[in-house]
Amino acid sequence: MLKIKIGRANTNDYVVDNPKICKYHAELTKTAEGILRIEDMDTVNGIYVNGIRIKRKNIALEDTVILAGCYTLDIRKTLRFCNDYSDEFLCLKDVYTDYILRKKRIIKNGQLKTGLYRMLPISIGGLGVVVIGQITDDQTIRIFGSLIAISFPIFGVIWATHCQTKIPENLEELNKHFRNAFICPKCGAYLGNQDWESLVRQKECKVSGCKAIWIINSAGN
Ligand SMILES: [Zn+2]
Repeated sequence: MLKIKIGRANTNDYVVDNPKICKYHAELTKTAEGILRIEDMDTVNGIYVNGIRIKRKNIALEDTVILAGCYTLDIRKTLRFCNDYSDEFLCLKDVYTDYILRKKRIIKNGQLKTGLYRMLPISIGGLGVVVIGQITDDQTIRIFGSLIAISFPIFGVIWATHCQTKIPENLEELNKHFRNAFICPKCGAYLGNQDWESLVRQKECKVSGCKAIWIINSAGN
């Protein structure tokens, strides 16, 4: 649970410098499941959610929250200010899953193509020799035709080698894209070649001074 104390006093997590706001005016909480709730700390001027005064209420990011009838609380800004980057971090799961899928696909397709281009021309060449032997008795045509048919596998090997060199090239391109996308949503540091689940266990960014929270604990602060 993420707890954000809001008010005029400097000891709050989010300080609002406004005389109508109490020293300890509100408490914004966010659960591990992402449920947001705002609570009035028994103030005179109160909290209004979408125009209605409340004591405590579950809210959505789109709701209009006004403290003391005069200060509009920007929920997103408040959460960012308190280093909550859990929503953005969740999106990185798709980035990682997509990367692994593409990586596997590049390797598998590359190997498939390489094998196919090596084997298929050999079969076509062999078949060509047999067909020429069947359709003509002319020795010159047989020899000439067989030479053409036999050259097929050579082109196959050249093309297969070309496909093989494409695998590391395509992987490098993918890795480049991944390094730009798999980054801390706050400081932009590349999160390294580790899976998303291990970052979940890490819970927050370890880059000095970043302090971004990726995973909100299910209990406590
Ligand atoms: Zn960071």
